[in-house]
Amino acid sequence: MDLSIITSLGYVVASGLFIFGLKMLGSPATARKGNMVSAVGMLVAIVVALLDQGIVEYQFILGGMIVGGAVGAIAARAVAMTSMPEMVALFNGLGGAASLLVGWAALSPDANTFTLITIVLSILIGGVTLTGSLIAYGKLSETLGSGAVMFKGQQLVNSLIILGVFGSAIMFCLEPTDPTWLYVVIGLSLVFGVMAVIPIGGADMPVVISLLNSYSGLAACAAGFAINNNVLIVAGSLVGASGIILTQIMCKAMNRSLSNVLFSGFASVSNETTEIEGEIKPINAEDAYYILEAATNVAIIPGYGMAVAQAQHVVKELANLLEANGAEVNFGIHPVAGRMPGHMNVLLAEADVPYDQLLEMDEINPRMESVDVAIVIGANDVVNPAAREVESSPIYGMPVINVTDARTVFVLKRSMASGFAGIENPLFYKENTRMLFGDAKETISALVRELGG
Ligand code: NDP
Repeated sequence: MDLSIITSLGYVVASGLFIFGLKMLGSPATARKGNMVSAVGMLVAIVVALLDQGIVEYQFILGGMIVGGAVGAIAARAVAMTSMPEMVALFNGLGGAASLLVGWAALSPDANTFTLITIVLSILIGGVTLTGSLIAYGKLSETLGSGAVMFKGQQLVNSLIILGVFGSAIMFCLEPTDPTWLYVVIGLSLVFGVMAVIPIGGADMPVVISLLNSYSGLAACAAGFAINNNVLIVAGSLVGASGIILTQIMCKAMNRSLSNVLFSGFASVSNETTEIEGEIKPINAEDAYYILEAATNVAIIPGYGMAVAQAQHVVKELANLLEANGAEVNFGIHPVAGRMPGHMNVLLAEADVPYDQLLEMDEINPRMESVDVAIVIGANDVVNPAAREVESSPIYGMPVINVTDARTVFVLKRSMASGFAGIENPLFYKENTRMLFGDAKETISALVRELGG
């Protein structure tokens, strides 16, 4: 068979595997398999691309795959679940860097105008993705401060950079034999990546990372056009489109527009000084047991603290005991609970919590009034009633899980410290709230012991 037919067929198979893999990622039940299917698609794409390009020096490529694969596997195993978003940020950045380099390498004296435009786009978007992701990584890992960096004249500076990028991109396309303009595009896009992300506060980083993920796809897509590689165009478009869909879902979950996230400097440090009425009512595991024992409907709302405490397995044990005691138990999952999209789903799946017990915010909220006890495990911002009640609050209007509608609310956390957004939570002072202070794993283990586990 003709090599070009094999290549085309191989690319179609790889693209199909990417699409099926992505589809399978849509449900926790099939997500692992979906990841594997997409990885096989990538292997097919690499092998076919090597054949297609007639690359004979396989030893370097095999060496690269082994070293890269080993680094990836070790990093993925070693990274704590709570640091996963940082790792995703780094991956996005490396994707951007790869597109930048591919675009740059595609430059040849006989490149036509279309190819020149795609080269410049892959370099521009790749460069912005690279440095933007590094800043996002720094903010999330708190190597850099997580606050929004704003200064006078910032918008003017950014506008000048954008003008400079487009101006030099046009000059490069007109004058491709002189690489100087290309270097200016590279330099300015790297600077713009930094400038675009510094004014965004740490609490908005998940949205930014998802957006940068989309950019890394667009950069790959442009690089695909630059080197005329169909599978790169398909894969890049899929990443670009899924990244933007996730970005929209997250913006909707926070009730904010994308432009508000990108340009408002929200969530730097809150200046909220509203007086909160009510008092804190701490209880211990023994008293909590008496209330739980009588409950027939329990909702568990996990957040970042459950991940920190690694409490998912004891939470599952608690749920089993409550069910054995005759209660209906459901989990309420907020789309931005934890520190990455799907964070809670991943942890609870690891502990074998059945998927049909995981209810999204829109499903659990209407049921909350019939819940006897809502157990909030290390969640704070995602259950903050200020989002509904305090108009001056920076999170006002953000959809939250309405635990205050439950008959009794247990809040498990170590102190009165605020959550990621750095704002006070009136939930802790509500009439029907009881605070169970301490590490979530220890507190739940104590409840499990009380329930006879
Ligand atoms: P929060 O960050 O609002 O609150 C977590 C709470 O967990 C803290 O108040 C902390 O209180 C408590 N906690 C920490 N460690 C423990 C422990 N060992 N045992 C018990 N409690 C503990 O988390 P949420 O999940 O409610 O909200 C997520 C926030 O993170 C949102 O603001 C979201 O925008 C942001 N974000 C989300 C991302 C995502 O993609 N999901 C990514 C990045 C940010 P204490 O210290 O008193 O124990």
